[in-house]
This record gives sequence, C-alpha cells and structure tokens, in this order.
Amino acid sequence: MAEALREAASAADVEPAALQGVGIGSPGDANGETGVVSGARNLPGWEGSFALGETLSQALGTPVWIGNDVQVATEAEFQLGAGREFQSLIGVFWGTGVGGGLVLDGKPWLGRGAAGEIGHMVVKRGGAECPCGRKGCMEAYAGRSAMEAEAHRQHEAGVKTDLFKLMRKHEKERLTSGIWQRSLDHGDQLAEKLIDRAIEALGTGIASAVNLLDPEAVIIGGGLGVRFGELYREPLSREMGKHLFVDEHPPALRVASLGDLGGAIGASLLVAS
Ligand SMILES: [Zn+2]
Repeated sequence: MAEALREAASAADVEPAALQGVGIGSPGDANGETGVVSGARNLPGWEGSFALGETLSQALGTPVWIGNDVQVATEAEFQLGAGREFQSLIGVFWGTGVGGGLVLDGKPWLGRGAAGEIGHMVVKRGGAECPCGRKGCMEAYAGRSAMEAEAHRQHEAGVKTDLFKLMRKHEKERLTSGIWQRSLDHGDQLAEKLIDRAIEALGTGIASAVNLLDPEAVIIGGGLGVRFGELYREPLSREMGKHLFVDEHPPALRVASLGDLGGAIGASLLVAS
C-alpha cells in the first residue's frame, strides 16, 4: 500500500509527506480511533489485528485515517452521490458479499464499530450456509460468491446452465456480475432463478432493517447492485413491500452513483472531516 501510494503521489507530482493525509477504507473491523484493523476476513489466511494507520503513517510521513470500506462508501454516497438529498439512509453493497453502512440523522452510525452488517441479517432460520459460517444470512442467498457456489452445486447435480460455459468463454475465473448479465440475456433459467432468489433475500433483509430504522432512503451499490439495481428496482420494491410493517411510505430506493471509486472517495472524506 505504501508503495502504491508513493507511486500515486509521484504521478500527481507531490511528496507523500506534503499530503494533508491519507484515508483508508478497510474490510473488517477498522477502528477509526486507534487505526487498528482486525478480522479483515477477505484477506485469505490473515487473522488477528494490524496497526495499519500507524504503520502506513510512519512509512509515508503523513497522517492516516481508517474507516470500514463499506461504511466509507456509504458516506460518500451520502455526501456526494445518490444519497445527497437525505438525512438518513442504509447503504447496501451487493457484490462478492453483501455489506452495509448506515447514516442516521446526518451522521455515520458505527455502533461499537461493527454496525451495518446487513448481509448477515437472518432471512431464513436454519437456511443456506453463509460464507461467514452461520446459516440463513441474506448473504447466503445474495452474495456473489454464495450464488456461484449454489450454481455449482445445481450444475453438478445436472441442472442445465450456460453460466460456467460463459465464464470460460470470457476467460473469467469466477461468475462476475458481467457473466450473470450475459446469462440472463441468454435466457439462462438457472441464472434467472438464482438472481430472483437473491432479490427475494435482499428484499426480506432490507425490509427488516427498514422496519427497525425507518430511513429515508436505501442506496444499492456494489458490483451486482450497480449492474442490476435499476433493472430489478420493481421486483426488489415488491419483495421489500411484503415485509414492511408500515408500507404507506417506503424509503426511496436509489442506485449508488459514484461507481467503483465510491469507496476511495469516501475514504478521502475521512481526511477532510
Ligand atoms: Zn453470514
């Protein structure tokens, strides 16, 4: 990271030490006070805690701020993107997993550091196995990697699908959001079924969160969210509607507008704030 930052600074013709600071959006429990990152589970084989803020700050000679990756992406959408007109919102980042972030009354809500894990809201007790090791989480149905695992199982069991054929044809190693899109365009029934199942789980989990928090808006981001958010807005609203306790004024449903750089933009806002 230090090397990448040095290169970026040099490309912008500035010394790292002359920067006002560096903002980082990290997976896992990212402690903004101490700069320590723990349990960043998407770094395979890496457990425990690391003083990322201090280490990087020493390497670069500039202050470093740390936040959770999904939370900072949510704050970027809140301040500069699809959530600008709202004071309270839930960010739902539908990608490899399903991450979430919260802004309540104009302020980020971090809980004790672990708030916003919307992907692990239980949508079916004793249901499908989640990558987190528990059962029935929203992510177990809607996360890209869980969807891929289910597609594999069904394909092995003899269900016809072009998903993996298209994956190989386009030289991908996994079922990317683009491969899901192509499969839907081909009228692939398994792809349709699994996307519908994901939308159902998302609607259920998001509606439960809305019942608790009553935010003005839900912002859908992430690789799958940005690709399918508009297309599936109606079905998603419908699935949510089934579970909203107060259904006269559902929250606005918007697709994230800052794209892949939303996280980086949000991380830079940590420095400015
Ligand atoms: Zn889970």
